[in-house]
Amino acid sequence: MQFKKLNDTCYYFEGAVNIGYVHHGEEGLLIDAGIDKSSIKKVIRKLKEEELPITHLFVTHAHADHYGGAYVLQKDFNVKTIAPRFEKAILENPMLEPLYLFGGNDPLDELRNKFLEGTPIQVHEVVDQGQYTFDSFQMSVFILPGHSYFQAGIVIDNIFYAADAYFSEEQLNKHKIPYITDAQMTIESLQKASEITCQGAVPGHGMYEEHFQPTIQKNVEYHEKVLTDLEIFISNNPDGVTHEQTVAYMCETYGVNTPQLSQFLLYRTAVTAYLIGLVKRKKLKTDIQRSCWVFYINEGEG
Ligand SMILES: [Zn+2]
Repeated sequence: MQFKKLNDTCYYFEGAVNIGYVHHGEEGLLIDAGIDKSSIKKVIRKLKEEELPITHLFVTHAHADHYGGAYVLQKDFNVKTIAPRFEKAILENPMLEPLYLFGGNDPLDELRNKFLEGTPIQVHEVVDQGQYTFDSFQMSVFILPGHSYFQAGIVIDNIFYAADAYFSEEQLNKHKIPYITDAQMTIESLQKASEITCQGAVPGHGMYEEHFQPTIQKNVEYHEKVLTDLEIFISNNPDGVTHEQTVAYMCETYGVNTPQLSQFLLYRTAVTAYLIGLVKRKKLKTDIQRSCWVFYINEGEG
């Protein structure tokens, strides 16, 4: 995990999941906390070495890879913890993630793993879209839904910590069907993010870039391509396609491996996000036929 300096006060730890850091004298703000104890311990060790304080934590969204290490910070540093509303509910009750991925059923034990469920934390301050000041830290909070219901990116000291509002090109190609919850909301959030002007941006996964707008544009194009592929598949089946068939078709066509139930559920949510996007654009219609959830092309709508 490399510790990179971006300007006088802003840094980030570059890893599988990036962790931001902002330093103001006696105060230090972490942005996200990594997946587990071992990842946050590396951060703590480095900050200690550099004699940099840890007093605040901002959690961008309640996905375990972003907050799984946060309980260690709360235990050892008594950090003031800030998170967007709604995400707070999950951070305080992390079983909600395997629960929602499992469609509301009580999750099987295999779903209660560190990738889907972190240790609960307390959220002391809740944010929505807008300007906030927490002690010496002034930030603009942007609510960027489409990947997590109330995900927030922040601009602080001229750096945009973007959470998972966009992915690096490498991540898009690796995941093939990126984890999103609503394709239309994702694209709207990408447009909102691309209008932010500042020194540069740190995504949740990928590298800091000064000119991040082209990467955001690549995300938009990537999602549009998946939407087009999906629309073509549904239009080739005039009698409609079930949800289950659509998930299977997309995973097989994109070469996505889902050997475990947890992975399958994540991809099922992602494919459903694109279906929802096309329904919202009135490209698809949906109903229930013989106890199956079915999608059709919406003839006569441009
Ligand atoms: Zn995420």
